[in-house]
Amino acid sequence: MNIAAPAYVIEPTAIPTLPVAGSDKLFPVRRVYCVGRNYAAHAVEMGHDPNKEPPFFFQKNPDNLVTDGNFPYPPASNDVHHEIEMVVALKSGGKDIPVERALDCVYGYGVALDMTRRDLQGVAKDMGRPWEVGKAFEASAPCSALVPAERIGHPKDGAIWLDVNGERKQTGDLNQMIWKVPEMISYLSGLFTLKPGDIILSGTPSGVGAVKRGDVLRGHVDGVGDIEVRVV
Ligand code: MN
Repeated sequence: MNIAAPAYVIEPTAIPTLPVAGSDKLFPVRRVYCVGRNYAAHAVEMGHDPNKEPPFFFQKNPDNLVTDGNFPYPPASNDVHHEIEMVVALKSGGKDIPVERALDCVYGYGVALDMTRRDLQGVAKDMGRPWEVGKAFEASAPCSALVPAERIGHPKDGAIWLDVNGERKQTGDLNQMIWKVPEMISYLSGLFTLKPGDIILSGTPSGVGAVKRGDVLRGHVDGVGDIEVRVV
């Protein structure tokens, strides 16, 4: 039998990966799902009623993840916002996953920034257009190393915060999530077939705001870890 390596007409791009804390091995990323308005206070600050909405999702591109501590200010925007979020990384998936089995799919957790071209997102909202130009641009998802759940368990409460240049801008608690981690996995799996390597950005607490070149963003999730990113 002849097992030939596949021949590509162009060189394939490498699979995006995230580092794993305390390990030389990498976590290969398949898809990046993001939950919108998952903390009540943030929904309110964006002008929405947090009580009336089922969860909704958008996606970033896996290669939007960056882990080198730099966030290059993107083109075509004058209003780029920080959103600190806990990352949920899946080691397994499926369809129609029951809430009570959803945490079995979780490999680990991390800390990320859902960087957002708020001005372009606002235009998209006003015109009923997709959000990709506001959300899924280059380097729009700075991310920490992942920490395996077998080491830290499954965080359900604890502080989540972000400092900009040493000043506290965003604060919340994981227990303020409108849709909890098992619920978001279960709900997502009714819409998409989840697979190993999928990650979910679980939403941001209130206090989002604009960044500028030179800013140092330092974020934290209790029980998970920290992220530090410089806007360049
Ligand atoms: Mn977000």
